[in-house]
Amino acid sequence: MFDDRVIRLKMIDAAKRLYQKNMLAAADGNISYKISDDYILMTPAGVSKAYITPEDFAVITLDNRIVSGNPSSERLMHLGVYNKCPQAKCVVHAHPPTAIAWTIAKPDLTELPSECLSELILGVGRIPIAPYARPGTVAMSDVLFPLLLENPVMILARHGALAWAGTLEEAVNGIERLEHTAEILLKAEMLGGITYLPDVEVDYLKSKRKKMCENGNVRIL
Ligand SMILES: [Zn+2]
Repeated sequence: MFDDRVIRLKMIDAAKRLYQKNMLAAADGNISYKISDDYILMTPAGVSKAYITPEDFAVITLDNRIVSGNPSSERLMHLGVYNKCPQAKCVVHAHPPTAIAWTIAKPDLTELPSECLSELILGVGRIPIAPYARPGTVAMSDVLFPLLLENPVMILARHGALAWAGTLEEAVNGIERLEHTAEILLKAEMLGGITYLPDVEVDYLKSKRKKMCENGNVRIL
């Protein structure tokens, strides 16, 4: 297999960035990277992602065979993304607190209100909320399936968030965008309530986003 050390180091950087932003508590979260048509690098289970080393990573196949290491128990969710989205090179899963809080306080919400923030529409389109499913089970990837192709970032109800992208930086940006949006909306609610952009502006932003995604390269800003 080719030398994937640079990718391992970038994954460690990504994990540290998420940890420093309070989106990974204790041993939470996991990051994976598709290093070839058949193999995935994955962060290990049961350890803080703030302290992992290049030797800690597991290698698994796309059909869930463990080649080496002790991969995250949430790997079925990652494999579901790679199987559904050919463009996905990496998957980042974290537990951003404000985004999760929205799903606990408002269990009927199917997405964060999006038509009130230009950066949300331009950056990720929308932020849907996948219904709760038990972590680590096939059911978890099943609830994501209908949302995956159209949405590079999403909240997992009562659990966390997921982003997939062609680069690690983009996927981490997606998680950041999601949590930042959740915080802004929470503050707007506390200050008196969410208000919306005019329809004509929403239409403009959505068409601009659509154009940016046309070549399939720009997914998360
Ligand atoms: Zn999780």
